[in-house]
Amino acid sequence: MDKSLNKIKTKFKGFNWEIYSQVAINSTNIDDPFRHCDCRIGKNKGFCNHFWIGVIYSLKEKYFKTSDWTLTTLPSDFAQKLSQVKVISGNKGEKQLVPSSFKKKKLSDPATKRPSKNVTKQWAISSYTNPHKQYTVTLYKNMSWACSCPHWVYRKAICKHIRECQSKSYS
Ligand SMILES: [Zn+2]
Ligand SMILES: [Zn+2]
Repeated sequence: MDKSLNKIKTKFKGFNWEIYSQVAINSTNIDDPFRHCDCRIGKNKGFCNHFWIGVIYSLKEKYFKTSDWTLTTLPSDFAQKLSQVKVISGNKGEKQLVPSSFKKKKLSDPATKRPSKNVTKQWAISSYTNPHKQYTVTLYKNMSWACSCPHWVYRKAICKHIRECQSKSYS
């Protein structure tokens, strides 16, 4: 993007088509802004939808003010359209025009992977009878213990696994 010219290149992508559109609006050319678009209307220097996207983007980036626009009457729903979109930075640093309600997806929420807040520590202890099996021993903030083995789950008895972890954590 050529900042001095406020040139905006946009790419519109469909399933089997792509339209490249360029708009450059600044104080010196606002009466006849530079525009180029691959689409049929744009080729004839018309004001196509792609052009208006560029205009909206330029306004969002404060390249000019709506009141400076004298070239055409703005579409009647223009102000509404303008309030419905915002500019965000994409993952590759590219700018995107998205609906105002759009929220960036978080790649992963670490909070969901972390054990519950009340957990002080957790251990994975191999079963004594079956080395392929592992039980999870948990020490809670209130100093109570739990284990995922049947001994604890069904009888709530302090099992070997908990004892092992107790000796580990107190030694
Ligand atoms: Zn166009
Ligand atoms: Zn156990």
